Amino acid sequence: MKPMGPIPAWFAGEEGMLLIGGCGAASLVDDAGDTPLFVYDMAIMEAQVRRLRDAMPEALDIHYAIKANPYPPLLERMATLVDGFDIASGGELDRALTAGMAADHISFAGPGKRDDELAAAIFAGATINLESEGEAQRALRFAAEQGRTARLAVRVNPDFDLKGSGMRMGGGAKPFGVDADRAAALARHVIDAGADWRGWHIFAGSQNLDAMAIIEAQAATIALAARLSEQVGVTPPLVNLGGGFGVAYFPGDVPLDIRPIGVALGAVLDERPAILRDSRFAMELGRWLVAEAGVYLTRVVDVKQSQGETFVVVDGGLHHQLAASGNFGTVVRRNYPIAIANHFGAPPAGDAVNVVGCLCTPIDRLGDKVALPLVAVGDLIAIFLAGAYGASASPMAFLGHPAPREMLLD
Ligand SMILES: *Cc1c(COP(=O)(O)O)cnc(C)c1O
Repeated sequence: MKPMGPIPAWFAGEEGMLLIGGCGAASLVDDAGDTPLFVYDMAIMEAQVRRLRDAMPEALDIHYAIKANPYPPLLERMATLVDGFDIASGGELDRALTAGMAADHISFAGPGKRDDELAAAIFAGATINLESEGEAQRALRFAAEQGRTARLAVRVNPDFDLKGSGMRMGGGAKPFGVDADRAAALARHVIDAGADWRGWHIFAGSQNLDAMAIIEAQAATIALAARLSEQVGVTPPLVNLGGGFGVAYFPGDVPLDIRPIGVALGAVLDERPAILRDSRFAMELGRWLVAEAGVYLTRVVDVKQSQGETFVVVDGGLHHQLAASGNFGTVVRRNYPIAIANHFGAPPAGDAVNVVGCLCTPIDRLGDKVALPLVAVGDLIAIFLAGAYGASASPMAFLGHPAPREMLLD
């Protein structure tokens, strides 16, 4: 047997049926029409936003990085809860605007922005987080062509990293942002060229469960922003501190306690250098806001034996939920929390089983030697922590299976 990650505390069962947003999992599948199905519980996301606001200093804006989950009904609701959206493509720009987020609360990061994406962002009035000097040149050219003032921030590749991050976004050679020693010159250049300089974007890492490491990185980020702003000689309207808050996906992971982070950030902001006195600050989070709200429901198609091991074959797989197969940003494959939705809370029975997806590849494994109650064909398997980097971050077209259904409980 191998352990699995912790089932988020929001979930309970009633008469053996997993409840999501107060509804039985099987009836949600009936409502949706079939499996595989992603269910997102808006109440959990709202509670996360509230927890974050309660914990963080008042001067901090909360942004949602929509690549974590760009399901349109979810974005529409999220647009009313957070202060801004962070986007990473022209397609996400369209989704953010359609969801009702005001363009001046949208910021666009990501290397490799195409000409048409830059032009669309300038036309809409979104802020572009510049990733290079070349990108700045192109953005300034399109702004001039359109007769508009571009809203430009400079993304900085910090000269430190966020220790213990699942995905490092800063420190060392990176495709993201401009190295810290060239950032001030770039900001100066866009200001002199007549752009509306929006400030700094500094994102050191992602999926971090170490509050102390986040506290240190945020303090270093504000110190760096102050130093760079001194070099420019201008107060940045916004300092975007990036995100980094991790989710406890795996056995032994301890959920991040965000309260000490808020206290420490409040203290750093209270003592910030004069050049940042009138700046606003923002944090941009993806997974922490939405991961726990999602459950992926997939039905057992077959139960088979091979050389003493049991294989539970489901109608979903890594083409919908790549991360649970261990092939999205993890080095070692570990088990996401899994349950049988229609035997929720029942004790494990028999030997550990392998839950495998329907794709004809050995990497399509959703549960490796997990202890479950006795499983039968027709049972519903629930994979938790499916609200972030699920449907939109999985190779949907691989093998030609249908797309998953998605449902927002509101
Ligand atoms: C992906 C991304 C985020 C969100 O990361 P999470 O780990 O989902 O919180 C935030 N900012 C930028 C620039 C990103 O690329």
